[in-house]
Amino acid sequence: MEFLPFTRPTLDEATITAVGDVLRSGWITSGPKVKAFEAALSEYFGGRPVRVLNSATGGMEVALRLIGLQPGDEVITTPLSWVATGNVILNLGAKPVFVDIDPVTRNIDLEQIEAAITPATKAIMPVDLAGLPVDRDRLYAIADRHGLRVIEDAAQSMGSSWRGKRIGSFGDLISISFHANKNMTTTEGGCLVLNDESQIPLFEKLRLQGVVRFPDGNMDVDVAGGKYNLTDVAAVIGLHQLQQIDAFNAKRKMLAQHYFATLDRSLGLGLPLDDMENSNWHMFQIQLPLSDLTIGRGDFIQAMHAKGIGIGVHYPAMHLFTLYRSLGWKEGDFPHAEKTGRETVTLPLFPAMECHDVERVCKAISEIVSAHRR
Ligand SMILES: *Cc1c(COP(=O)(O)O)cnc(C)c1O
Repeated sequence: MEFLPFTRPTLDEATITAVGDVLRSGWITSGPKVKAFEAALSEYFGGRPVRVLNSATGGMEVALRLIGLQPGDEVITTPLSWVATGNVILNLGAKPVFVDIDPVTRNIDLEQIEAAITPATKAIMPVDLAGLPVDRDRLYAIADRHGLRVIEDAAQSMGSSWRGKRIGSFGDLISISFHANKNMTTTEGGCLVLNDESQIPLFEKLRLQGVVRFPDGNMDVDVAGGKYNLTDVAAVIGLHQLQQIDAFNAKRKMLAQHYFATLDRSLGLGLPLDDMENSNWHMFQIQLPLSDLTIGRGDFIQAMHAKGIGIGVHYPAMHLFTLYRSLGWKEGDFPHAEKTGRETVTLPLFPAMECHDVERVCKAISEIVSAHRR
């Protein structure tokens, strides 16, 4: 039987042809396709200004520089995310302040944010794990009450919404990823949704070496920008993916519903929140009942692999990585994030799958869990 990976991008022949056209055009790095992609994204996000970059990590770094984050400042975030979320804060000399997750949503526990605010707090960086949005009403109420900026690490949230409003169409600064595994891709890439046009000049300087060009051919630099520009080769892929994102997400939602209908509830698996309104179903993640099993997560993943099924791990709690431990975090600091980070596996979910693939995954899980119960 064919190997079923946990994710796979859907790239059609029209996209591949368009990439060839860019390669033949003579202009392959940032140019007209980047401009067209930014305009199309802006339309998707209700007219807000949008700029693309070569990663969402870069987008978050630029966002933190845009809000003037200084060494010593604090940013409140979740320990249960891709480590980029913490690293971008550290890389600016600032301090991530982790708040434990709500074990039901697996996102930052909004109840605990206010207790973590200090005079050094400048911003909150919420993460929509698996594409399930953090409650934007409560989040922005907290930010407004304390005068904090919000940089939404919406890396996984392309096409998610909050109470009928698309993520990215409202709020402060929103960073979205187009990494190969996300719901739409540019191979690598991302975008940042800005508040207003006045932020564009500084954003564009920070994106590419701080350079400002003048009509007479001269240039000047007054800020040390980075190297974050997206190529036209990548942007043309994004233009094609953007046309399909809503269809991709509809298919993901259908497959997620099929997981809920098919997974054997007697196995004791921890299921994700059943949100068919807001989530883009970036991932379908279950928690293994490890205390009832004679095998560990690694053995489970291997056993699934032996049945031709790929399983992902997203993510171990980041405060337990060596770097973060060396900065003072330790086991027990965020018990819900640690437990969820240890037990969670990501099941195959991508638009080219069909219901029979979901059924095959569910059957394999049943067989493995049943065979290794205590
Ligand atoms: C993918 C991801 C990122 C990083 O995106 P890149 O485009 O790979 O830089 C950041 N945060 C989260 C939650 C992600 O899933």
